[in-house]
Order: sequence, then structure tokens, then C-alpha cells
Amino acid sequence: MKSLTPIADSMFPTSDQLYVETVTERGPGNSVIASTLRPATAKDVRAAKRQWELGKCTHSVVRDDKGWDYDFRWCATCGAGLGVV
Ligand SMILES: [Zn+2]
Repeated sequence: MKSLTPIADSMFPTSDQLYVETVTERGPGNSVIASTLRPATAKDVRAAKRQWELGKCTHSVVRDDKGWDYDFRWCATCGAGLGVV
């Protein structure tokens, strides 16, 4: 199992592929029903980290961890778990 280092805790760019998640549909409890992913750029990562520094992490830059049946999605900025996908 690989370790997950949130961007906010690291001075170094991660080698894992990061994505920008755009939620297109939300369900009860603000859960995500549908979203789209696109590869994150360095600019996206900087913007996400700035939000985190302001105490308002938007969890918009994500990283997927391969699981057995499902992938587990993490916020790449603060390390919060965002559930299975
Ligand atoms: Zn976050």
C-alpha cells in the first residue's frame, strides 16, 4: 500500500496523477452522485493549496487509490477521504 502525502503537507510535487473533480450532481447529505475528472495542472494545484491555506479546502484536486473492487478517492490537497468511486 502506497503512502498518501497531502499536497498541503509536502513541499514537493507528488508523482501521482492528480485530477480536478467537478461535481455535476449531488445527492442527500451533499454526497456526490456524478462528477467529471480532468488531469490537474500545476495552476490547479496552486489554486487548491491557496484555498486550503485560507482554511477553505474545496477538495477539488483529487487522487484515486486503487482498491480491490472500488477505487478510494482522496483530496490531494488536505488528505481528506472522499469515499469510494
Ligand atoms: Zn481537501
